[in-house]
Amino acid sequence: MQRVTITLDDALMDELQLGRPPTPWHVARDGFAETVSFLGLVTGTLAKVATDVMLLMQTEVGEAFEPFVPGRGSSSTMPQKRNPIACEFIVAATKIVRQQAGLMLDALAADPTARPIAGGTDLVVAARQGRKPLPESIVAVDRIAELAGHEVRDGSLVLGGLTSHAWLATAAEVRDRWTGLADASALVGSPATRSTGTLGGNLMNASPAADTTAPLVVFGAVVTLRAAGGAARSVAVADLATGPGRTVAVSGELLTEVVVPAVPPGAGSAYVRLEYRRAMEIAVVGAAALVVLDGDRVVDARLALTAVAPTIIRAPEAEASLAGASADRTTYRSAGRLAAAAARPIDDVRASAAYRSAMLEVVVARAASPLPPSEPARRTWAGGGEGSTDQGTVEGGAS
Ligand SMILES: Cc1cc2nc3c(=O)[nH]c(=O)nc-3n(C[C@H](O)[C@H](O)[C@H](O)COP(=O)(O)OP(=O)(O)OC[C@H]3O[C@@H](n4cnc5c(N)ncnc54)[C@H](O)[C@@H]3O)c2cc1C
Repeated sequence: MQRVTITLDDALMDELQLGRPPTPWHVARDGFAETVSFLGLVTGTLAKVATDVMLLMQTEVGEAFEPFVPGRGSSSTMPQKRNPIACEFIVAATKIVRQQAGLMLDALAADPTARPIAGGTDLVVAARQGRKPLPESIVAVDRIAELAGHEVRDGSLVLGGLTSHAWLATAAEVRDRWTGLADASALVGSPATRSTGTLGGNLMNASPAADTTAPLVVFGAVVTLRAAGGAARSVAVADLATGPGRTVAVSGELLTEVVVPAVPPGAGSAYVRLEYRRAMEIAVVGAAALVVLDGDRVVDARLALTAVAPTIIRAPEAEASLAGASADRTTYRSAGRLAAAAARPIDDVRASAAYRSAMLEVVVARAASPLPPSEPARRTWAGGGEGSTDQGTVEGGAS
């Protein structure tokens, strides 16, 4: 069938005087899979026929052990009967073919070059823009129901890998309790990107500018990577990316679930990024903060920085400076300076390293500080406050 199609294609291209498109590997592979399946089907049918013949003759199987007499045929009583030993051969041979066909199909399914695709807003867009070629084989995972759920379970937020940014940005429970994550998802691309793009895709794409990673790092979130056969392992989001576009996941592993632990009482969180325009933008720099307050003192703080190193990084010195300090402007600005010192930004077309460092100070200070009571509440501090994600940005030039 494949051959006929390719021949027809060739004829059509000749007729139209156009070039012949190359046959990609997956087209050839599908033809191969069809042939293997067909062989499996034929030999399976032969095995069935042979088994039936054997069953019909089972009372006379013993005849096969009679001494050979030239000219008599295979049966002393009914010379027209076929020898059941021949049936045994057919059954054995077809078993081998069927087993090999299964192995071959498994091998095709386990194509090591295959990559999952969820929303395609990174994979396909990068290919269309000529930044990265589309993988030879892609496996659509966007309709796997088991990856699509989201719920609060025992106080933790449990998110399927397919959870969309649109849902994260608007779900009341996320905005109220894991506000930094809602902030980040609300900033992703445009309404269309947020509806199509997924949390799993954002994490597995491993961009140093991915917006949801930093909040998940400060919340101590853990992902489940599941391999064929059901083997699963847990990896902290902080340890998932190993460099731009690289993760610890091996070929064939799917990110199935993200578990975000409950935030401690008195904690608030935010994600703030610097951008040059309000939509369809990626972070010049960004910061997520989880800060636990007791009155006017900071009890504990976690900070994660976006787009200032090959992966999203924590800022331990800045975090230590916040713990136990008075919750005021001076404390937050000083944490911003320490975070900037921990960053390793690069010069690129979007900003110089020096500009990124200077802006990081501002972004960290804003992410860590609770908004004054006069401003519309955006974060949850001391367990209260209404989520709103419309202020998580600093436009270019802010200081
Ligand atoms: C116009 C535009 C604006 C954007 N703006 C932003 C932005 O502001 N901030 C931001 O962070 N990103 C942004 N992005 C990038 C993108 O939208 C997000 O990273 C999105 O979350 C990717 O999800 P996806 O499902 O589309 O990923 P896909 O493109 O389907 O996949 C991305 C990568 O993850 C892998 N993958 C996907 N799902 C899984 C899974 N379950 N298990 C294992 N591997 C998986 C794929 O193999 C691929 O390598 C933007 C993209 C566009 C096109």
